[in-house]
Amino acid sequence: QEPLPAPGRIRVMTIANQKGGVGKTTSTVNLGVALAIFGLRTLVIDLDPQGNTSTALGVDHSVGTPSIYDALVGDSTLAEVTHPTTASPNLTCVPATIDLAGAEIELVSVVAREYRLRRAIELYLQELPADQRPHYVLIDCPPSLGLLTLNALVAGDEVLIPIQCEYYALEGLGQLLSNIDLVKAHLNPGISVSTILLTMYDGRTKLADQVADEVRSHFGSVVLTAVIPRNVRVSEAPGYGQSVLTYDPGSRGATSYVEAARELAFRGAGLKPQVAAPPPAP
Ligand code: ADP
Ligand code: MG
Repeated sequence: QEPLPAPGRIRVMTIANQKGGVGKTTSTVNLGVALAIFGLRTLVIDLDPQGNTSTALGVDHSVGTPSIYDALVGDSTLAEVTHPTTASPNLTCVPATIDLAGAEIELVSVVAREYRLRRAIELYLQELPADQRPHYVLIDCPPSLGLLTLNALVAGDEVLIPIQCEYYALEGLGQLLSNIDLVKAHLNPGISVSTILLTMYDGRTKLADQVADEVRSHFGSVVLTAVIPRNVRVSEAPGYGQSVLTYDPGSRGATSYVEAARELAFRGAGLKPQVAAPPPAP
């Protein structure tokens, strides 16, 4: 299996959409596994108190497990809360425990609360030897626009928005985009929506095509050509603590996520190394 090209710079990608059930977690897990299997070091950060990303990657997230909570609210480093996964030696995961549910409120009184994740990632990358740094950092957001998602938007260089090819797919998208604009203006000038992924596409319905066309005409080349079909293997895999790539590599769900990861990687290979302007001091 031909390795995928490394990106021109470390890509910190925030997977966001405040709607639940649109495929954020599924896409984070399966893109992460695909990138890792094809040779790119990938760190997945679970920022949803549900911990579904951790589950799907087979990483323990019971209370007491060192988790993202300890890095955001406590004083653990990211290195201390990063766990290996069984999916690939290239894939590591920072799990989320249910403790994170309290973080939205606990963070309110923390100094530089919007910058906690960004600082943690920066420190982690600085302290790792260059040849061990991840090529990709994928951050799976909870289904809300609270302080956790805000931390992820401040930490990322790029936003990946999964859009479900269903009724009301675009509802709420305006709110997400205006939040991203606010973050760009005030907290993280480097952020942009680089990628939109169409998920749960059902080719038998006219509606799915209508939604896909509408998204493409609205967002143009930001939308990946690869589309993720609705596929039962995708929804079965997490129950076995697996990605669909390891659970059923021949399924349409698996091949479509590999295709999407390829596209992501080839786009990333064209990125110029850049020194982003530092955010204003909090
Ligand atoms: P989110 O993280 O945005 O809330 P999830 O990734 O958890 O969404 O997906 C919601 C539900 O839909 C989950 O049960 C998941 O297994 C299922 N699902 C996601 N993508 C697909 C797909 N392509 N085909 C079938 N089921 C899917
Ligand atoms: Mg989720």
